[in-house]
Amino acid sequence: MPRPITATVHLAAMRHNLARARACAPDAKAWAVVKANAYGHGLERALRGFADADGLALVEFDGAVRLREMGWSKPVLLLEGWFDAADLETMSRYDLNGAVHCMEQIALLERHRPAQPLNVHLKMNTGMNRLGFRPERFAEAYRRLRAIPHVGEITLMTHFANADESQHPCLPVHDQLRRFKEGAAGLPGPRSLANSAGVFQMPHLQGALAGDWIRPGIMLYGGTPGGRTAVQYGLLPAMTLASEVIGVQDVRAGEFVGYGSRFEAEGAMRIGIVACGYADGYPRHAPTGTPIVVDGVRTRTVGRVSMDMLAVDLTPVPQAGVGSRVVLWGEGMPVDEVATAAGTIGYELMCAVAPRVAMVEDRTSILI
Ligand SMILES: *Cc1c(COP(=O)(O)O)cnc(C)c1O
Repeated sequence: MPRPITATVHLAAMRHNLARARACAPDAKAWAVVKANAYGHGLERALRGFADADGLALVEFDGAVRLREMGWSKPVLLLEGWFDAADLETMSRYDLNGAVHCMEQIALLERHRPAQPLNVHLKMNTGMNRLGFRPERFAEAYRRLRAIPHVGEITLMTHFANADESQHPCLPVHDQLRRFKEGAAGLPGPRSLANSAGVFQMPHLQGALAGDWIRPGIMLYGGTPGGRTAVQYGLLPAMTLASEVIGVQDVRAGEFVGYGSRFEAEGAMRIGIVACGYADGYPRHAPTGTPIVVDGVRTRTVGRVSMDMLAVDLTPVPQAGVGSRVVLWGEGMPVDEVATAAGTIGYELMCAVAPRVAMVEDRTSILI
């Protein structure tokens, strides 16, 4: 028998979450963001879970080609665009759209004429200072692109740094929106603005961030970009990472658990040993007290997470023993809660699920 750890991917939850994103921006088309192997959920499953999306967006060329080979015929967008001339050929052959964020990419496109015209997404840096042209240089980049005969449609895009906190003291989303409008003034083409955090802000910003396309990622997987919880946003977990108790220790007061003896039992207690460790993608820095579910009951981890195992406090679940089901995150244990306890974000936990964890697909529909 294989180790009992599995990551179950809930296709119905993916469909539900995509519908939630669309409901926030009913007039916009939706890219479902599937970079990093669909945030750890697998491209094949994303393709089915997000069959209703208007396009799939990612950063990996091999993934983009695989989407085409698996039969995805709607648009595909490479969010970092192309890196060399061979990429331009790949984009032309597989009909892939690409973001363009720097003059070097434009120069490459001027020199290498792909067989088919490319649709591009011209990216503006509205204050995040990651990728993109500054607003005052945006129109110049646009004109240079427009002059290239093998450029098709040009979509105008930007990315928000703080859309999860509309009143951010350093860079409020409104400032980024204003810069975008100024920099893109008078330029034709569809607009693409909002990530999940932006999508969540739409209802109380009267759709100001909607544009023609939205680009939700984390919310489609049932995680949040910060702020409120998945339940408050009406999202369902797309992945349940579950395992089993494979051993039990009855420890006495004053005894220690795990590497570094970081947890000391205050009294006699039962400790469950779970087949899940950092080599499965569970964060090693999750401290004692990180929430976890055993036999449907919420309890806590104790001591250090090791490579293949972690320890849990069985005090609230006296009936639990070897074979008891453990939910690390997913149904009944929001990934965001585990992430917060471990000082990280749900994105990182989902993306880090290791290849050795068996992925299984739950095709049943979830009743809500
Ligand atoms: C990753 C990414 C997104 C999706 O972001 P989420 O926070 O996961 O919704 C959208 N746009 C771009 C450019 C991205 O890189």
